[in-house]
Amino acid sequence: MSFVRPNIDALAGYAPGEQPQGGKFIKLNTNENPYPASPAVTTAIEAALRNGLQRYPDPMATAFRLRAAQLFAPDVPGITPDWILCGNGSDDLLTILTRTFIGEGELLRLPYPSYILYRTLAEIQGARAEEVRFNADWSLSDDFSATAAGLKLAFLPNPNSPSGTYIAPERVLEIAERLPCPLVVDEAYVDFAATNCLNLVGRSEKIIITRTLSKSYALAGLRFGFAIAQPQLIREMIKVKDSYNVDALSIAGATGAIDDQAWLRENRRKVLATRDKLTAGMTALGFNAVPSQANFVWCPHPKLPVKPLYEQLKASGVLVRYMNYPGWSDGLRISVGTEDQNEACLGLLRGMV
Ligand SMILES: *Cc1c(COP(=O)(O)O)cnc(C)c1O
Repeated sequence: MSFVRPNIDALAGYAPGEQPQGGKFIKLNTNENPYPASPAVTTAIEAALRNGLQRYPDPMATAFRLRAAQLFAPDVPGITPDWILCGNGSDDLLTILTRTFIGEGELLRLPYPSYILYRTLAEIQGARAEEVRFNADWSLSDDFSATAAGLKLAFLPNPNSPSGTYIAPERVLEIAERLPCPLVVDEAYVDFAATNCLNLVGRSEKIIITRTLSKSYALAGLRFGFAIAQPQLIREMIKVKDSYNVDALSIAGATGAIDDQAWLRENRRKVLATRDKLTAGMTALGFNAVPSQANFVWCPHPKLPVKPLYEQLKASGVLVRYMNYPGWSDGLRISVGTEDQNEACLGLLRGMV
């Protein structure tokens, strides 16, 4: 006998990538940035600490939103802080979005294979999730924008995980315009891509962008993300969020981070150079490494079973992500670490395949 709601009882629960504590592993499994964040982050957090933590934080994280609005003004003419909502990581925003737009029994659309958390969020909400398969070349067919009874929201990670592939902004706009509901473009990895969909929020009231400081700003431990959309949507989402969903230290650190765009450019340059080497190395080993616009590389293998490779790597102290997508394929998703970390991983694989 269970006291809980039937949909929760039935839920397996989202399983994040392993986070072993302590420095035992070379960690290439959850797309963290291998480099420390900008020193401006530490300075800002120390200043916030000296101010003390006895007061509640600004519920709207206005200091961050002011800076972000300035930063994005060239792409979104007329943007103000009212276009931005901050969250405890972008996962918090994905939860807020699900709760704002999808009622019990209604429908969430997502691509497949993609970020597994979306489906879990729909199930917690008591809603249904409908997966539309990517084409073999990781493009999206018009099925993704088809109408369906009860369809209230669509999630599109761009770049996608696990593939690292990218849907061009004009195609994203076309999808949004056909959909009968808002489209969330999850840009968790976009700072590693060649372009982004930011300017679409000025052109379509249906597009909501989510971003995170976890990956490109090397702040996964801080928990800070944000959404950008037209103010009439942000206003509704504000009603759903927790009163103080970002803490004072996070607001300070996040504002310091986006103020240091020179750090972001230099970090991106390093990550992209290492990504190229990792992709070439995996291809040379016989994997079908997919050219990536993110800070990881999806590596299915045309012949070899890859789960034993994941296990042997782990036994040797290198953690990568093994993913199995029924009806699609399995593969290794390897994060871009430092040159040395990825070289260690490639070296071990050379002895295995
Ligand atoms: C990492 C990730 C996020 C969540 O990031 P937070 O750490 O919660 O900000 C969201 N979407 C995708 C596709 C991700 O990979």
